[in-house]
Amino acid sequence: MNKDYTLAKDITSDAILPTEQGNFRMRVFVDDKGAEHSILSVGLDNTTKAPLVRIHSECLTGDAFGSLKCDCGPQLRAAMARIQEEGCGAIVYMRQEGRGIGLEAKIRAYALQDLGMDTLDANLALNLPADGREYDFSAHMLKQIGVEKVRLMTNNPL
Ligand SMILES: [Zn+2]
Repeated sequence: MNKDYTLAKDITSDAILPTEQGNFRMRVFVDDKGAEHSILSVGLDNTTKAPLVRIHSECLTGDAFGSLKCDCGPQLRAAMARIQEEGCGAIVYMRQEGRGIGLEAKIRAYALQDLGMDTLDANLALNLPADGREYDFSAHMLKQIGVEKVRLMTNNPL
């Protein structure tokens, strides 16, 4: 599970991103499969306490299109606002669309859900893992920017 990413291209870009919630420092990381993940952060340098961190899995339909099939978009923006309020924290945005199954498969699963299947049954019917997300690269990214301890913001008890 613990892969060594030291040979991977790590911090490829670093700039300030102004958003509706405030200014974030945005850094982009490329994993060994070529996927581009990012960290939006505020005030990590001048703090001694563990920062608030949300690890957010990409959901194009929810994050960008405002889909009502899930609450990813509102959750992401609430976490961004909370971090700005706190003045210290980070969003780790992982490009693992649809619980890691990819956008094309996710929309196929939506079609099955429209026929009455739940998310899990639809994924199983498509021969897809119920949850294919991986988080070891998220931990690697946080370490790269010097974050060793976090207070995780999550709605998933696991
Ligand atoms: Zn979503």
